[in-house]
Amino acid sequence: MEWYRQPKAPTVLGHEVSGSVVAIGSGVEGVREGDRITATHHVPCLVCRYCLSGRETVCEMLRRTRFDPGGYAEYIRVPAVNVERGVLKLPEEVSDDTGSLLEPLGCALRGQRKAGVEAGQSMLIVGGGIAGCLHLLAARAHGVGPIFVSDIRDARRRFAADLGADEVLDARADVPGAVESALGHGVDRVIVCTGARGAIDQAVGSVDRGGTVLFFAPMRPDETYEVPFNEIFWRHDVTLTSSYGASLADLTLALELTSTRRINVDSLVTHRLPLGEIQKGFEMMLEGDESLKIVVDPRLDRA
Ligand SMILES: [Zn+2]
Ligand SMILES: [Zn+2]
Repeated sequence: MEWYRQPKAPTVLGHEVSGSVVAIGSGVEGVREGDRITATHHVPCLVCRYCLSGRETVCEMLRRTRFDPGGYAEYIRVPAVNVERGVLKLPEEVSDDTGSLLEPLGCALRGQRKAGVEAGQSMLIVGGGIAGCLHLLAARAHGVGPIFVSDIRDARRRFAADLGADEVLDARADVPGAVESALGHGVDRVIVCTGARGAIDQAVGSVDRGGTVLFFAPMRPDETYEVPFNEIFWRHDVTLTSSYGASLADLTLALELTSTRRINVDSLVTHRLPLGEIQKGFEMMLEGDESLKIVVDPRLDRA
């Protein structure tokens, strides 16, 4: 997503965080020094027409709120409104790693709710990176199955199989054909976790009649997708939808599901680096072969 990041430079990126409270501003209630917390960078106003109808992630205020300076820092300042509406205390049984994964897990849970994901449905997850794996874990916790995961990378398919995917597919092969021969029809739900052009064709080709495709990753801003209108909507009654971000309710659900061990996200962390080596972390993600989630831990810089 360099097209998104480059125009923002110089900036401090990062929004999936956990940490300990070291100082508190005046008038802050409900949080104490020493508390282990996660905080979300984007918080909604709760009173606009979008917030009042459950569409908090398209709230104007959500787009403006952020940390100071950003998650990739030793210390961050959490604005008052974020403290009020976007901070969760981590119970003892929830690790710091899990705390930093609650925001992306909350995004996945919101997306699945929006796509009407239910127990007993079949699912294809296109793209086995961290988003795909979070969707896989969330879907398993909901009783979804069988679950197919497709990816072009060998290591990613191995991760997905280890995490409980019923079948992993090479994304370069005929994915709709593989789904059809396994089930005798398409899948009920498809979740697209990559912006790659071919992925959309696979997704649309794999969804069953009356099914839903959830788009969970952006495309390049100059790219478009032409919808075969009669095929998709008129004849097959397929729903194409998307989801972006998470609300505090989604984060709270993510905390509930991880603290009760219904979902274990710690297993997604493959590497841990000090902040001083963050560049190496980005390079590892680009190569992407053995890394799924890399935690950047400023405590390692001091060790
Ligand atoms: Zn709002
Ligand atoms: Zn995120």
